[in-house]
Amino acid sequence: MNIATQLSSVKIPIVLIKEFAYCPRIAFYKYFTVWEPPTESMKFPQYTKLHLARILRSYAIEGDIYMEHPVRSKSLGVYGKVDAVVIDNNKLYIVEVKLDTSKSRLKKRGFHHLLQLTAYTIAAEETFHMPTEKSFIVVLARGEVLEVKIGPNIRKMLTNIVKEMKKYIEQQTLPPKTPIKSRCNSCFYRKACM
Ligand code: SF4
Repeated sequence: MNIATQLSSVKIPIVLIKEFAYCPRIAFYKYFTVWEPPTESMKFPQYTKLHLARILRSYAIEGDIYMEHPVRSKSLGVYGKVDAVVIDNNKLYIVEVKLDTSKSRLKKRGFHHLLQLTAYTIAAEETFHMPTEKSFIVVLARGEVLEVKIGPNIRKMLTNIVKEMKKYIEQQTLPPKTPIKSRCNSCFYRKACM
């Protein structure tokens, strides 16, 4: 059985995969009820195409940059807009932008960002019908580019998370809370979270 037949027909915005990995409840609340109001930093873009291009070029990443590019994975049933894709001589690069992170943080508390990048990478490959050359996270705080290997293990992990999310959505049952209690302190949903 291939992935497409294993996964249900529910379609999920990729941004909710990141939320599900951060706290499954947040993804559930956003899918079925209300989205938290945007913060000031969400309302105003933190960078321009020129700014991003300067950072990428300083790492010798050339090619045409397409900002906020829509991507979709039929096999996973997920969709979204990746911060940028770069196409250089038929080579595809995926770029997600974060205000601040690091390689060590991505492996631990920032792992949800890694899963988000994985989902965008898979969706971009299916949208452009070509494999990705490389996937990057651009760290605005330091003008740094982190290269992230999207290998078979994290792809498999992502597929399992999407399956789990769809199960909760289809059954309309509340998923578990995050085990990291400190995340509740600043959560928009904390008053309603049972
Ligand atoms: S209050 Fe805590 S458990 Fe509930 S949605 Fe927010 S982060 Fe998750």
